[in-house]
Amino acid sequence: MTLISLVVPCYNEQASIPIFYQTVEKILTTFANNSGHYQWEYWFINDGSTDQTLDELEILNTKDPNRVHYIDFTRNFGKEAALLAGLTQADGQFVGVMDVDLQDPPELLPKMIELLETTDNDVIATQRTDRTGEPKLRSWCSDKFYRLINRISNIKMRSGVRDFRLMRRSVVTAIISLPEYNRFSKGIFNWVGFKTTYLPFSHRDRVAGKTHWSFKQLFSYSLDGIMDFSAVPLAIASWIGILAFITSILGLIFIVSRALIYGDPTIGWPSLVTIILMVGGIQLFCLGIIGKYISKIYLETKHRPLYLIKKER
Ligand code: UDP
Ligand code: MG
Repeated sequence: MTLISLVVPCYNEQASIPIFYQTVEKILTTFANNSGHYQWEYWFINDGSTDQTLDELEILNTKDPNRVHYIDFTRNFGKEAALLAGLTQADGQFVGVMDVDLQDPPELLPKMIELLETTDNDVIATQRTDRTGEPKLRSWCSDKFYRLINRISNIKMRSGVRDFRLMRRSVVTAIISLPEYNRFSKGIFNWVGFKTTYLPFSHRDRVAGKTHWSFKQLFSYSLDGIMDFSAVPLAIASWIGILAFITSILGLIFIVSRALIYGDPTIGWPSLVTIILMVGGIQLFCLGIIGKYISKIYLETKHRPLYLIKKER
């Protein structure tokens, strides 16, 4: 008997949870009836929801205590923490990660299970082939983000790849063995390697509720991703420094030669002030980059847990 664990983070998802459960149950029951030897379990994580999410999870757990488990966080720790908590608890030989809003199509699950069973792939991941309904600016930024991170870090990420995936136990063990505090799952999934196949699917809307990501949050999430997987921004800071140094030497040569040839009229104060301001600005910018990395080191050295659990069933 192969056990499949599904890890499902939930943040203010009271409306989506029952629909998700019914849909997945239907698909997996049909699949298991046809192909036998499969069992499955759910690990829902209530990530500090302020609505009735916990009540919904309790109802499901009472109804189906063997399959439905849940972890209740003490507050909102974010999707990354929720994923880690779920992956740590999941017992299955195959472990899936999916959103509860049905934007990750559960109809793909049977195909994913079959592929893991019949091929030597370790991960069956999914990739959205279109971005219908997404604001143009967001798609554009997202595209640029993938280009940039692929260029400046060692990991290679594909645009449109979702967290939705089914993995073998060995992959999950590798993921949870990474001790970092600053977790960027999209990067971590890539970093651990393993043989991965991507199943394409086209965009679908949320079944209920609304997205938790504002443009600003997405932007800062991408910056975190870049910093967690690349030290190139630090190198940029030094390159800007070197460039400013060379420019100043050239400027100095120019000024000295001009003074020698034409005498020394005291002109150019406004340009001097501008240059001082510019150099000051560059220095602060570079300090800012360094500061960002230091703040990440600071968070890592505290060794705080990524989440706290209030209740678990
Ligand atoms: N989520 C979470 N904690 C958060 C934000 C989101 O557990 O702080 C969950 C959310 O309930 C959903 C999944 O992460 O199951 C993806 O969130 P969302 O649908 O808002 O993201 P999008 O699909 O818009 O990228
Ligand atoms: Mg969603």
